Amino acid sequence: MDPERLLAQLERILPRYDRPVPRYTSYPTAPVWREDYGPDAFLEDLGAGAGAPDEGLSLYVHVPFCASLCHFCACNRVITRDPALPERYLDTLQREIEAVREVLPAARTATQLHWGGGTPTHLSPDQIRRLYETLIQAFPLRPGAEVSVEVDPRVTGEAHVEALRACGFNRISMGVQDFDPRVQQAIHRAQPVEMTAALVERARRSGFESVNLDLIYGLPYQTEESFRETLDSVLALQPDRLALYSYAHVTWVAKQQRGFERKNLPEPATKLRIFLLAIRRLLDAGYLFIGLDHFARPDDELSRALADGSLRRNFMGQTTQAGVDLLGFGPSAISELRASYAQSHRDLPSWHAAVAERGVATLRGFRLSRDDVERRWLISSLICLGEIRAEEYRARFGAELREGYADELGRLAPAAEDKLVTLDEEGSVRVTDLGRVLVRNLATVFDRHLPEAGADSRPTFSRAV
Ligand code: SF4
Repeated sequence: MDPERLLAQLERILPRYDRPVPRYTSYPTAPVWREDYGPDAFLEDLGAGAGAPDEGLSLYVHVPFCASLCHFCACNRVITRDPALPERYLDTLQREIEAVREVLPAARTATQLHWGGGTPTHLSPDQIRRLYETLIQAFPLRPGAEVSVEVDPRVTGEAHVEALRACGFNRISMGVQDFDPRVQQAIHRAQPVEMTAALVERARRSGFESVNLDLIYGLPYQTEESFRETLDSVLALQPDRLALYSYAHVTWVAKQQRGFERKNLPEPATKLRIFLLAIRRLLDAGYLFIGLDHFARPDDELSRALADGSLRRNFMGQTTQAGVDLLGFGPSAISELRASYAQSHRDLPSWHAAVAERGVATLRGFRLSRDDVERRWLISSLICLGEIRAEEYRARFGAELREGYADELGRLAPAAEDKLVTLDEEGSVRVTDLGRVLVRNLATVFDRHLPEAGADSRPTFSRAV
């Protein structure tokens, strides 16, 4: 669709859609998970396992430490320069990994490993090697495993890159956010283009197969013009993948965001223009829009997964590992099993204490009903693939989509009038180019738990745009 027409249409309908909506990295969303789901329930679900005893696993490790606080950040992080904290963290992590390993069949090894944070390269190269050894002794990696890490260019030196490559990491993701010095000053993250460029160069030279760069739109002082310049600098680095996140103004989670003057944040219409500008620029540069906030080169495996319908989404972002159990380690880490979620204590002292007591630190979780499993599939299909196919629903769940979800499909009629979706007589839903921008709103139609998630009227989710 012509970008100017797309923008004009979006501006016209946006007031009806720009409201708080979940990001749907899980279904049901985290606010409805329950604290009566604790370590016993998690260990039981882990041990019960619904799949084959040699099924692969996806592993996530949350390294919570950062040297300084970026003012936009809503991640779970501990700002510290105390070297004792990472050492103690590694001791506890070892215990947690061993406790999970004990209840799983030995043949369950890993097909994917990802370290996020926080800042994984806050760890020293020796600590990186130690953590990696602990993990692969417990969960050997299968040949061809995807091994990825998030790094902060401001603290990642040559020795870190070498240690990561020697361990076997093959994908690296760098936070950039924005290259404009004025924006960087406002968000408290000074990171010149040259610093990022040097790290990209170093990573490629040492053999990383894939480099991802993260950007955020909607930050203080951003304009279309300033973000165009950031995009030019980013594209000159030729990343293999790009993530373009919407800044989430969630001051009830990230109190330091209160320091941002509302007047310095771009207006919703400007934020939308920046987003559309970025999409256009990245498409022109040859990237494919993988959906929601991810872009990749056409030969990237995410692009292939989008084309063959296997693309899915989990807490680590878009993934090709559909249906693989995800095990999360570290404070606040989330595990996603076939029919349950479990999240560990967020703050470091509680996580240490819980692991010391029980081996795992489950704070809350959720067991999915059959209805939840269906709706998770519907929402995931809509968000990741831009469609729900009635025949695929029938093959998977043995029922007719238009009968089981007549009410939900009826509630999509206004979105069809707004040209966000098309519906056919079997109930198949297809998201249009216009609808992709607001796909989180469309997904809410299938979310039976949404009233519970916002039931106490506290702000819970970030806005759609
Ligand atoms: S954005 Fe990254 S580096 Fe900055 S505080 Fe958050 S987790 Fe740490």
